[in-house]
Amino acid sequence: MAKISIRDLTVEGREVLLRVDFNVPLEDGKITDDTRIAGALPSIRHLVDGGARLVLCSHLGRPKGERDPRYSLRPVALRLGQLLGREVLFSEDCIGEEALEQRKELSAGEILLLENTRFHAGEKANDAGFSKDLAGSASFFVNDAFGTAHRAHGSTEGVTHHVEKSAMGFLIERELEFLCDKLEGPSRPFVVILGGAKVSDKIEVITSLLEKADSLIIGGAMAFTFLHAQGHKMGKSLLEIDKADLALEILAKAKAKGVRILLPSDTRVTREFKEGAETKVTLKYADGGEIEEDWEGIDIGDDTIERFCEEVATAGTIVWNGPMGVFEISSFAEGTKKVAEAVAESEALTIVGGGDSVTAVKKYDLGERMSFISTGGGASLELLEGKDLPGVAALSNL
Ligand code: AMP
Repeated sequence: MAKISIRDLTVEGREVLLRVDFNVPLEDGKITDDTRIAGALPSIRHLVDGGARLVLCSHLGRPKGERDPRYSLRPVALRLGQLLGREVLFSEDCIGEEALEQRKELSAGEILLLENTRFHAGEKANDAGFSKDLAGSASFFVNDAFGTAHRAHGSTEGVTHHVEKSAMGFLIERELEFLCDKLEGPSRPFVVILGGAKVSDKIEVITSLLEKADSLIIGGAMAFTFLHAQGHKMGKSLLEIDKADLALEILAKAKAKGVRILLPSDTRVTREFKEGAETKVTLKYADGGEIEEDWEGIDIGDDTIERFCEEVATAGTIVWNGPMGVFEISSFAEGTKKVAEAVAESEALTIVGGGDSVTAVKKYDLGERMSFISTGGGASLELLEGKDLPGVAALSNL
């Protein structure tokens, strides 16, 4: 169901509650990365320029449902004010008399940031009373916090029941455009690259994308469960033995659907899980290669890198979620780096679907060369799984 966007609201003189993602990293009360604050600026500016009386809310960290000064949003109000070049007022609590009073006093174009919504247990519990209080006197609600849109919390779902209309902001609109709309009729071949630690985390994504993709590249530790299921020895590698049957089912399903599955043909292994450790690449599995008992797989091997990059080069659309190896350790990062570079070089529509692959893309400074980088880990995975996000489903229909 199509949802209304921030563009569809006439906000002149009306109170608007905007849910943003100001969950920024803090060290000693100082913001160490303000990317998320900067990301919210287009929606904030649009509402301010439209004459809204603007109230902002967000969570920050995991304060366990009670006030915890370490997670106060006060430093964010200051930083936001600097970025906007105008004053941002701050309320000590997100609900209650005082906050309501401050909201009432707002003039058109003024901005008030409410304190951390997670200082109240009602936020995560999606408590009706909390949601009503948070909605307060707002006429409209705008959700622009993609990273929490897969959670039905008071500030993402509950509030929508207590306002005239609820709309998505520019950030969520763009996430949906790339992770949903553009994948409805993708330019082909549609190549999906999946990696990361566990098959169990990605089963639903695999199942959903098997319906759409032309080929599925599987790297990272999750590939070991597939290789083990095919009878290869995986040494001390991370495995989910209980998922072996499932891996075989996925391979059979892909075959029946005509979806190519590319698994590693060799693996980079180590005996020590640390920076600078000795590594070597196994013989190709097709030539009898295996991972010896004391060794564990930590990256894809050279032949695999070549095959995966060749496949990427043919693509019309690429979705990438999950690293090819333990890229956090530079001696185990080659596979992830090479695949990231191949995706960046591709002329295809390239979508990096959240989480660790985003960290990798940023690490190699390739962000500018991707068509789209999702800002939400769990939320982008759920969209790729074909699920509705509660924070989007609750918005007003077009
Ligand atoms: P995920 O959160 O499932 O996307 O997994 C990301 C994590 O998987 C990263 O921290 C990687 O270090 C880890 N990972 C990828 N490949 C391997 C591997 N071969 N062995 C152990 N961990 C891995």
